[in-house]
Amino acid sequence: MTELEIRKAIIENCLKMNATGLNQGTSGNLSARYKDVMIITPSGIAYEVLKPSDLATMPINKDYGSWDGPLKPSTEWRFHLDIMIERPDVGGIVHTHSTYATILSIAGKEIPACHYMIAAFGGPTIRCADYATFGTEELSANALKALKDRTGCILANHGMIATGANIAKAMWLAVELETIAKQYYQSLLIGGPNLLSEAEIANVMERFKGYGLQDKKSANSNAKPKTRAKTPAKTKAPAKTKAPGKTKAAAKPKVAAKRKAPSKARTQTKPRARKQA
Ligand code: 13P
Ligand code: ZN
Repeated sequence: MTELEIRKAIIENCLKMNATGLNQGTSGNLSARYKDVMIITPSGIAYEVLKPSDLATMPINKDYGSWDGPLKPSTEWRFHLDIMIERPDVGGIVHTHSTYATILSIAGKEIPACHYMIAAFGGPTIRCADYATFGTEELSANALKALKDRTGCILANHGMIATGANIAKAMWLAVELETIAKQYYQSLLIGGPNLLSEAEIANVMERFKGYGLQDKKSANSNAKPKTRAKTPAKTKAPAKTKAPGKTKAAAKPKVAAKRKAPSKARTQTKPRARKQA
């Protein structure tokens, strides 16, 4: 993509995140990598009036904190820049104050493996970064910690961050994060989730390598051997967690990994021989 295309894509996604309810007002901010600079939304601007030339640029690997452009970059430039420096695979970052991720962040809850899509975030949890004031070095450090081996996190009493190879992928993940947050929150209202095991999340992460649109070449390189297993692999039923209680500890769902699936003996016993009359 050219620099102009990236600038336009940032604005398109800003408008999209507000139109779809993923964000509101001038909250949130987006950035994308272009060569050795980061292009980032200006601070406090209404996205409807944003023009490609309004976006700020910041060098990624030199003159830390310096910027160019007609308007001051987002107050959250630190965590955007620190992520770009630390994670060369990241080409796009979305920060929003989406409702359900923010509700969980207010309660200081991380998201556990309540849905297999959590594997898209690189592991069995979406962590909640400790609270720090917006725009601070401390918030950036907390966010980086929560993002270790992950592509997204929530920020205590604030919102969320989603990252991706480009801005479109980061936005896709931001939508997924908000969706899981909503699903998890609502499952807590009906007795708490059945959590998936870490092994199952690792399994799903493996399967994601071959998921989605792929050309023939990459589809073949991701393909599994063409032999079919004779017996289907056993899958464990998700473990049931306790209903959330009032205390913080009780509200935290746990994977009761050792709990077994209902015993087959109860449902698959041979019919008893009838007594002869
Ligand atoms: P900016 O308008 O400075 O990007 O700040 C919005 C925000 O979400 C701060 O956390
Ligand atoms: Zn914010």
